[in-house]
Amino acid sequence: MTKGGLSIAIVGAGIGGLTAAATLRRVGHDVRIYEQARAFARIGAGIQQGPNSVKVLRKLGLEPRLREMAFRPDAALNRQWDTGEVTWERRLGDEVERKYGAPYFYMHRGDLHAALADLVPDGIVCRNRKLTGLRETKDGVTLAFADGSRADADLVIGADGVHSIVREVLLGAEKPGFTGRVAYRTTFPASLMEGAAIDDCAKWWGPDRHIVIYYVNPRRDEIYFVTSTPEPDFEVESWSAKGDLGELRAAYRDFHPKVQAVLAACPEVHKWALFEREPLPRWSAERITLLGDACHPMTPYMAQGAATAIEDAAVLSRCLDGVERDRMGAALRRYEDSRKDRTARIQLISRLNDMEKIKAEIESVYSYDAWSAPLAEAVAAS
Ligand SMILES: Cc1cc2nc3c(=O)[nH]c(=O)nc-3n(C[C@H](O)[C@H](O)[C@H](O)COP(=O)(O)OP(=O)(O)OC[C@H]3O[C@@H](n4cnc5c(N)ncnc54)[C@H](O)[C@@H]3O)c2cc1C
Repeated sequence: MTKGGLSIAIVGAGIGGLTAAATLRRVGHDVRIYEQARAFARIGAGIQQGPNSVKVLRKLGLEPRLREMAFRPDAALNRQWDTGEVTWERRLGDEVERKYGAPYFYMHRGDLHAALADLVPDGIVCRNRKLTGLRETKDGVTLAFADGSRADADLVIGADGVHSIVREVLLGAEKPGFTGRVAYRTTFPASLMEGAAIDDCAKWWGPDRHIVIYYVNPRRDEIYFVTSTPEPDFEVESWSAKGDLGELRAAYRDFHPKVQAVLAACPEVHKWALFEREPLPRWSAERITLLGDACHPMTPYMAQGAATAIEDAAVLSRCLDGVERDRMGAALRRYEDSRKDRTARIQLISRLNDMEKIKAEIESVYSYDAWSAPLAEAVAAS
């Protein structure tokens, strides 16, 4: 552990940024998070976390809270969109836990975010600070914010999502690619189903679209669904963008009655354009690096975007453990080299949304332990 630690500025208090704050504080660094939002809201979305990311969260002390708040079904079904035929039952519950050493959870995204936020002192999260620029100086990095304020740090981590400004500083402006698809998603009380049953968790595969439906807590009283629906003309990514329920129901009108029952019961829906990027040529400079969607944004079809951001946070903390200021660049290279192949592969497989290919990846995705996976060779300090 560095005496006094490095002063580290994390841009973005999303799932990746908060986890990195917790892992880096654990190895003695002095962390501050700069987040553009004024406040965090519990907006209707679910999230899956598999054994690979749960192993990271376990070491941060979150496992008991996850077990209490998250849903841990015995299986996830993959069904044909029209007949409902089960084409693959992905075993979860005790089976996945025995095999990979940690559970597979389904939960409300807001609950996961709140649990991560509770891992760090509120005082280190600076809200309403939208990063507009970065300047590397001889001694560190100066961050500039939209409100005119500035901050200095030894090291900056861009955890600022798919449209990352930090990525832009490192690699130049380049818009992420719109997939031509949107996610309709929402959570709503299960009581609105008026007794109609749903599967604990199911992905309904249609010819050119799909819908995933699951409970987000062990009480089974809140339902989540998320679609991937072709809509090449919609490119808005905003939690406030509402979807049109009529259009959504029409897009799934030929799906199985069980799917239609869920869409009929939901009172409102958000609509979110899906973006991704090709794997980046590099993530780091001497005093700046990226994490999560800022460096490897992916389609949500393997439910690994946030999970790999959480893995990044663990590996980054291992690479920066005990590192002095003159070794930061080498440590960041080591982090990048340790993570790139894995995240690039998951990005590329996820894009395909092919059940057989996803099946073939499960072993390597779930068995990974970011706390003990071999790190890339240390790079000599430049
Ligand atoms: C429909 C859908 C379903 C998904 N389901 C899953 C799932 O089941 N499991 C899973 O693991 N992943 C899932 N993902 C992926 C997951 O949501 C992302 O990979 C994850 O949120 C990435 O986290 P992050 O912290 O890197 O970025 P983000 O969550 O995007 O957080 C970035 C943060 O940075 C802030 N920020 C941005 N710009 C600035 C700036 N200039 N200055 C200051 N702050 C800034 C933002 O406000 C935000 O708080 C899903 C994604 C989608 C779209």
